[in-house]
Amino acid sequence: MFLMEVNEAKELRVAPIKNGTVIDHITAGQAFNVLKILGLSSDVPNTVTALLRAPSQKQKFKDVVKIEDRELTSLEINKIAVIAPEAVYNIIRDYAVAEKHAVKAPDTLIDILRCGNPNCITISGTKWSKEALEGKPWQPKEPVSYKMKRFIDKEQPNKYIYECHYCERRIEDNLMEYLL
Ligand SMILES: [Zn+2]
Repeated sequence: MFLMEVNEAKELRVAPIKNGTVIDHITAGQAFNVLKILGLSSDVPNTVTALLRAPSQKQKFKDVVKIEDRELTSLEINKIAVIAPEAVYNIIRDYAVAEKHAVKAPDTLIDILRCGNPNCITISGTKWSKEALEGKPWQPKEPVSYKMKRFIDKEQPNKYIYECHYCERRIEDNLMEYLL
């Protein structure tokens, strides 16, 4: 079951759930990407509620995703931290908030985000490689993990920049495109 609420009222009302996860303070516009990261589509057995562009004091607008009977894995949390760094997840057990944590990815992401350079050693042998882009046959992938270091943008303290450990190519926008 899949529910969608588009909130126009000033007051934010989200019906309580018995067990599951509420992901709050998602960067407005990223709720669908969060659902994608969690592999949630219309045919999942969980009840999922997405609240889009809810008023937020901290962020002006935010998205909220509520999933019944589901908790998050650390890999999912790391991926959500990339596209919605201010997100907070609440684990609900028996109608009460059992745990509340800010999402936080490690400073160096291993096999979470790929490099954007088609010539990078980590990209060779993948569908993002130069050979693949040119329609040539590609060799199997080099046994090198994707390794991206995270920096804070000095001019925009809420924004992160990721740099490849091997080729130093940086990515900062459309990060969903680079999530593995
Ligand atoms: Zn690279």
